[in-house]
Order: sequence, then C-alpha cells, then structure tokens
Amino acid sequence: MSRVLLATRNLGKVAELQRILAPYALVLEAAGYEPGPETGASFAENAVAKAREGVAFTGLPSVADDSGLTVEALNGMPGILSARWAGRHGDDVANLELVLAQLRDIPDERRGAAFVCAAAYALPDGRSEVVLGELQGSLIREPRGTNGFGYDPVFVPTGYDVTSAELAPAEKDAISHRGQAFRALAPLLATALAA
Ligand code: IMP
Repeated sequence: MSRVLLATRNLGKVAELQRILAPYALVLEAAGYEPGPETGASFAENAVAKAREGVAFTGLPSVADDSGLTVEALNGMPGILSARWAGRHGDDVANLELVLAQLRDIPDERRGAAFVCAAAYALPDGRSEVVLGELQGSLIREPRGTNGFGYDPVFVPTGYDVTSAELAPAEKDAISHRGQAFRALAPLLATALAA
C-alpha cells in the first residue's frame, strides 16, 4: 500500500476520489494545509501545480485535480474559473445561479456544456503526469437532484434524462470527467511509484 496525499480541500471531490481510487492500492491522506491561489492558464497546469504543492507541504506523492464546467454559449467559460465564477471561491449555489442567469435567453438547442477534469500526480523526485477526462452534456433551467456538488444539479449528461445530481454516486463515477481522468491516472501512478 502506498501513502498518497489527496491534495484538495473540496469535500465533493474528496468523496468522489476516495470512491474512484478505492480499487487501487493507495492509502489517501487528507490535505491539512491552506492551498495557494490557482494561477495556471489551463486545467492541466493548475492540476500539476496543486499536486506539486502537496509534495512541497508533505513530502508525500500527491494527486490533485483541476476541473470545471465549459459552456458553449459562454465561449468555454467558466472553465478554470468555475469554482469562483460568482466572485467567491467555492460558493456553489451562487456560481450555478449566475450561469443559469447568463443562459436565461439561450434556447435549449444551444445549451451544450462539458465537465472537464485534469488529474495529476507529482512525486518527491520531481516526476509528474497529467491526464484529461471529459463528460459532455447540456444545461437545464432549474436545479434538480441533491447528489454531487457544484453544477451537478443543472447538468444533464448526453444520453441521460436526469442531472448528474440525480445519478447515484457510482453511476456518476462510471461516466464522469473525474472518474475517467483518475482511472487513467491511477495505473500510471502505480507504475511510477513502483519504479
Ligand atoms: P477547482 O477546485 O478549481 O478544480 O474547481 C472545480 C469547480 O468546478 C467546482 O467548484 C465546481 O464548481 C465545478 N465542478 C468540477 N467538477 C464538478 C462536478 O463533478 N460536478 C459539478 N461541478 C463540478
């Protein structure tokens, strides 16, 4: 069993990543420090920076993600600004309401969106790796469902008629951007830790 730091303080992500990474031989430690500002220009840059920060604070191999919602009618925004779209970091309700208000006059056929996740690991010897996962869908007009976090109550994955907040946790993990990215990253991390 390898000890790996889960370099996030977002409780929604912690719950998902503990489930997604459970099948891999990793003991996940919680981040006990205040993370620095996210200054990268992309999901991938931010994810690697967060994982490196975890290594710097703890000396442990670290995994992190940077993720968000990209909305076609908003030219790809909120993107890397998803967590602070309404101005205050982590105010999920305000962020979701602002996006709904911005899309009020956008017809159903132009409400396409995607969740994107960059999953990264960083090791004390300086090695790092990052992979991307994406979940396509569209945005409805009123929140539905109580599972998940963030924009889940207004996001309907392509091919579904429920929001990702109405999916059971395991159903979301099976298709989600975070599930895809971390299922790709975990074997790479296992190989790197063994080398
Ligand atoms: P980060 O902590 O900077 O990566 O910000 C991620 C933000 O993107 C979250 O605060 C949510 O607003 C949004 N987000 C990322 N993944 C999800 C998801 O699976 N469901 C809903 N919102 C998400």
